[in-house]
Amino acid sequence: MYQTLEEYNRKRDFRKTPEPKGETRKASEELSFVIQKHAATRLHYDFRLELDGVLKSWAVTKGPSYNPSDKRLAMRTEDHPFDYGGFEGIIPKGEYGGGTVMLWDRGIWHPKGDPHEGLEKGNLKFELEGERMHGNWALIRMKPKSDKDKESWLLIKEKDEDADTNGVGFLEENDTSVYSGRTMEEIAQGAPVHDGSPAA
Ligand code: MN
Repeated sequence: MYQTLEEYNRKRDFRKTPEPKGETRKASEELSFVIQKHAATRLHYDFRLELDGVLKSWAVTKGPSYNPSDKRLAMRTEDHPFDYGGFEGIIPKGEYGGGTVMLWDRGIWHPKGDPHEGLEKGNLKFELEGERMHGNWALIRMKPKSDKDKESWLLIKEKDEDADTNGVGFLEENDTSVYSGRTMEEIAQGAPVHDGSPAA
């Protein structure tokens, strides 16, 4: 169900949304990851890991936490195209996922062991080298409550030197785009990118 970009393309009207059309591309040697803060019906953080030329995706309602005791619910969502990792802007109201999208973090990820096996078994461990996300993390799939249950996973910080047992304030202190320096409000208003930011 998540293995191709068909679902991604089916859900969107590309005459109306500025999001990129779904196309697979060749797998790269260094795997990128991106987190997009998305003010849709409910605010959430879309966590995306590149694999096989697409972005494997989860929606993390509360966002990531550096506290290893915070197990953050991460609902698996459809694969997104690689180019989606460069998207920041506004999905028009009424369209799928309508709302503001911010590039909240990006970098590369290093799977521990075979990531295909990890996805299959529901136990994916990896290291992140992003601007805001560092160190060792895990995505663990929970037992489904029913056949119709969407894939519910947990995003968990592993105990390492990057872990923070307090972990409070991380999301609040990091409330601008790593791409444009803009806040959610500024993106929503179509404000220009800030001087000195990578996009300027
Ligand atoms: Mn989303």
